[in-house]
Amino acid sequence: MTRRYFVLGGLAALAAGGAYSWKLRREFGALPEPAPLSPHWRGGAFHNLPDSYSYAALNREPAATGGWLKFFLERDGDRYPPAPLPSAPPDFQALKDGEFVWLGHSSFLLRLGGKVVCIDPVLSSRASPVPFTIPAWPGANPYRAEDFPFIDYLCISHDHWDHLDYTAVKSLAFGHVLCGKGVGAHFAAWGRKNVTELDWWEEWREGPLHIIFTPAHHFSGRGLTRNQSLWGGFTLDAGSGGRAYFTGDGGYGGHFAEIGRRYGPFDCIFPDSGQYNRAWDRVHMFPEQAVMAARDTGSRLACPAHIGKFTLAWHPWDEPVRRFGQKARETGQEYMAPIIGEKCRIGA
Ligand SMILES: [Zn+2]
Ligand SMILES: [Zn+2]
Repeated sequence: MTRRYFVLGGLAALAAGGAYSWKLRREFGALPEPAPLSPHWRGGAFHNLPDSYSYAALNREPAATGGWLKFFLERDGDRYPPAPLPSAPPDFQALKDGEFVWLGHSSFLLRLGGKVVCIDPVLSSRASPVPFTIPAWPGANPYRAEDFPFIDYLCISHDHWDHLDYTAVKSLAFGHVLCGKGVGAHFAAWGRKNVTELDWWEEWREGPLHIIFTPAHHFSGRGLTRNQSLWGGFTLDAGSGGRAYFTGDGGYGGHFAEIGRRYGPFDCIFPDSGQYNRAWDRVHMFPEQAVMAARDTGSRLACPAHIGKFTLAWHPWDEPVRRFGQKARETGQEYMAPIIGEKCRIGA
């Protein structure tokens, strides 16, 4: 009897392990084949705009701080909030035109120009392929797919795990996907159609809503192969109905002034404001730079993004908002820091 249970238990464990590794393999997605057609694709990879970072700089930090293993496994210190985060009850079906909700980290749900737009939704309890690493903070992942209205446009800024989430793609109801060149390969691998890949400055227009994929100084990749798909941000322009700009992940640079010149001023900006470090300052902004990006793009209101759900850097969990607020007050930049799920207005 015992032996039989042992064998059955072993088989169940094997099946569970097999199912997990099958799901995990699917979560990695796929690389584009053939190579994407883009002026930014050279030598087998995408590249940032000319004044951008050198990827070699990205790997300086771990040696200086005791290593990634410690980073991923340690939960003490002030990098995690001391108590569960508050969140508003989901009332997303009733979202009115010109309203948005921040869903933690870089996930936003908006209604603009009569369309429901969702940017970088993450429903998984972790932003990593490795179990027990990069967990969502307690209270910061309160919603399920059933809480969401039908999404007209799913906008994916790039394929990093904290932005392109397999669980969200599999479970949310959405119509059309807008993403960077090469990201469509993941959607094809996951059996999703109706995907439009955009290069920097390329646009999608439907009715009063005009969406443009904008450059960012960043990188991409879900596995070991980097920069096989393009990263960027989105401007969402519904004219008098509201105009918003989501920077995507990326370092500070002259592209913000250019985006402001071409498509600004904006009613609201959602700038990359957290998970920063001096060693990777070319691919993420410091909070002060995020405020500068708001000013460069002529944004009336700023709502910091890439904060408040995952620990991806060494800074204290609440430091981005404190530094962002201080710089905003010094420069006269209007800003807001809503709780997760709180309804806000893009326009005045
Ligand atoms: Zn990223
Ligand atoms: Zn990110």
